[in-house]
Amino acid sequence: ANRIVIKVGTSSLIHPNGAINLETFDQLAYTLSALNNQGKELILVSSGAIGVGLNKMHLKQRPSEIGAQQALAAIGQSELMTLFTQRFDHYLTDIAQVLLTHDIFDYPKSNKFVMDTFNCLLNDNVIPIVNENDTVATDELDHHTTFGDNDQLSAIVASHMNADLLIVLSDIDGFYDRNPKKFADANLIQTVSNVGDDDFTIAGGSGSRFGTGGMRTKLLAAKRMIDEDRQMVLANGQDPQIIFDILAGKPVGTLFS
Ligand code: ADP
Repeated sequence: ANRIVIKVGTSSLIHPNGAINLETFDQLAYTLSALNNQGKELILVSSGAIGVGLNKMHLKQRPSEIGAQQALAAIGQSELMTLFTQRFDHYLTDIAQVLLTHDIFDYPKSNKFVMDTFNCLLNDNVIPIVNENDTVATDELDHHTTFGDNDQLSAIVASHMNADLLIVLSDIDGFYDRNPKKFADANLIQTVSNVGDDDFTIAGGSGSRFGTGGMRTKLLAAKRMIDEDRQMVLANGQDPQIIFDILAGKPVGTLFS
């Protein structure tokens, strides 16, 4: 794979107690910098603005009001990029912030602007770091919208930017035959070639305290990738160096292909 979209979930960036997982930030910067130096074209889609915002404002719980969540996301987004800038600077890699909404590619003019921006950044070896623009959209915050979540935004980006591979990093090793957080005897499914209704049934609801989409939105992303003849790997983001293993073709996580 030469052009790769990597999506990292809140659960990989924020510890369950609300503290920022600086090790993941560092390992992500290390891994993506190494791949960037090898000439891979990378786009990182990162959640975590709200989680980082909660941490910054010393809050324990997500506020229930959407407006308050958007405010927290605005606080957290700049802090999130500060964390990425610090770590990527360390490995001499340039990054850029790209804030999108799910429908941006549906408008021909914005579609062109966004693609041109991505292409310029990739040509200059800069890694775009994408998130939903939470000030103008609530797709990621409102669990009831059809788009929901950065899982699908990352699939939309992978699709429009013609990436071969989407890597989704989460807090579980892959897609299981039932929720592994609830059932100790759940089994990892290594490959999925067709995402069907049965899969959605075993995907349960949303997962971690700070995470949003859960397995459902990851399956929707996988379905889109398979339909377009691209691949998606769902793997554990605890150590982002797992990306090296994925690209080396080692059997880690769940391959949707
Ligand atoms: P992220 O923040 O990384 O996007 P989420 O918390 O939104 O992660 O989604 C991952 C969670 O989905 C897992 O921690 C798990 O609790 C839940 N889940 C539900 N069903 C499954 C399943 N069949 N296989 C794996 N995880 C599942």
